[in-house]
Parts: sequence; C-alpha cells; structure tokens
Amino acid sequence: MLEDGCTNHCSFCKTHYYPKKIESINEQDALNYLRKKIKNGTKIISLSGENLTLYGIDIYKKPILHKFIHELAEETDLNYIIVNEITAQNIYPELLEELARCKKVVQVSLQLESASDKILKAMNRGHTLEEYDYIIRTLQEQGKIVDTILMSGFPIETQEDLEKTINYIKERKIYVEGIVDYADFYAIPSHELEQLPYKEKRRHLKALSEAIKTSNYEVLENVMNYPFTNASIVVGHNDKKVYLANSMTHYSMKKDLYELPLGTIVEEQPKRIVKRMRSTINYQYKY
Ligand code: SF4
Repeated sequence: MLEDGCTNHCSFCKTHYYPKKIESINEQDALNYLRKKIKNGTKIISLSGENLTLYGIDIYKKPILHKFIHELAEETDLNYIIVNEITAQNIYPELLEELARCKKVVQVSLQLESASDKILKAMNRGHTLEEYDYIIRTLQEQGKIVDTILMSGFPIETQEDLEKTINYIKERKIYVEGIVDYADFYAIPSHELEQLPYKEKRRHLKALSEAIKTSNYEVLENVMNYPFTNASIVVGHNDKKVYLANSMTHYSMKKDLYELPLGTIVEEQPKRIVKRMRSTINYQYKY
C-alpha cells in the first residue's frame, strides 16, 4: 500500500464522505523498504493503494507512480511488478507509457464497473468506455494482463447495459477479479437514482457472475501460455507439501518440488490455477 485516500467522487462510493485526504508513503522510504525485501528474496511486488494513480500528489505536488515503478524495476533481482487500483480518470501519459513499456510490469488492475457509457456517467467515473478502452488496448498490445472489477445492480442498469458489459469483457479479454453487488446508502449520490427492485438486482448479479465465469476461464487459458504465468515461486514448505505462488494465486503441491529452496522459480500446470480461480470468482469488494 503506497497510498491511502481518493479525491474522486464516484456516486456509489462512500470514500469521500469521510474526511480522508490522500496520504502517500515517502518515495525513498518505500523504495528502501522494498529493496531490502528484494535482497532477502522477494521476486514479485504488487503495488496498491486506495487510488494508486494519485500516489505522491500530497508530498510532491504531482503524481509520481511512473517514476516509482521505473526505479523499482531497475532492481535486477526483482522479476515482476503488479500494479493495482489504477483509475482511468486519473491516469496520465507518463504513467501509461511506463506501465506499457516496463517489461517487469506484467499485470495491471484498472476498475471498469460497467461498459455502458450511460452507467459510467451516472457513476461519475470521469471517463468514457472509449477512454478506458484506449488504456486497455495500449497495455494489451504490450503483452500485459489486465484485470478489473465490475459492479452489478447499479440503479437504472438495464438488460442492455448488462449485456454491453458482458460483451465488452469477453471481446477485450479482460480478467474480472471480482463483482461488486451495488449497496445503497442514503448519503451517497446514487441513492437519488431509481433503485432496481430486489429481484431484478439478484437477476443481474446472477447473469453477470455466470457470464464472467466463462469469460474468465477463457482469459486464463490464454494467459497461462505467457511465460510469467507458467512460472511459480517456491514460497514455503511443511512436512508434506511445498507451497508455490505466482501473481494470480497461491496453491500447493505434494512432494514433487519439495527439495527446491525458497525463491526457486518453477514451471507449473496451468489447469490447477484455473480450477481454483473459477471457484473463487464471487466475492464482495470494498465500498
Ligand atoms: S470508487 Fe475508487 S476512484 Fe471512485 S471515489 Fe471510490 S476510491 Fe475513488
């Protein structure tokens, strides 16, 4: 967590109703901390924040995530960087360029919520689908895996809006990490919109969940062929198992790799990971 707080005003989000300003960790402190981790064997670093795109604006008066990633990537013993909580509304040219260009950045999370421009506007997300799509295409063209979070049951969401989202995700091959079931709250702006009846809301969630299970499976099957997703790292042992992790999941295997020391990078069967990811798709996110 490099940063906490967000200055955006998404109409469904409760974040800005609390007096929570942006607070970033000093760049050099964070880099020194991570360099120590790398020295002790860390191979993958996942950077996160409440809205990581804004990292640094409180201390340096401008966002510096691009610079941070650039310096971190210079650590030769670090293999991969994963970047979470990037918002299309706040992305800036230098950051997009760094995310696309840096070979160690292998996965980027960019929340979409909905692929309907009508819904994006009602959510006050600050971008259109076209603007979001430009970022995704730029990253995918450079071989990055992109994942996202969707929202189901937002007020005024129609079947047509739902289908737009499902079709877009499938067509663009974006991995959906989670689905947020819209939760109403009297003090958020979206409370003023016409809420979906309970049964309709359930139906949207079910339809979206089912569609995403299939499309996620297809996305994962493809990305498993990428060199980095086939690679896992030995992260622990006990009497009977060796524990492996890659950027998408943790799982364990009996014996096969037991003799390998911590930090060893190995090849592993993708199917195991797909199976696990399929079973964990439904979960409630923050907000
Ligand atoms: S949903 Fe994310 S980007 Fe929007 S206000 Fe909340 S924290 Fe900020």
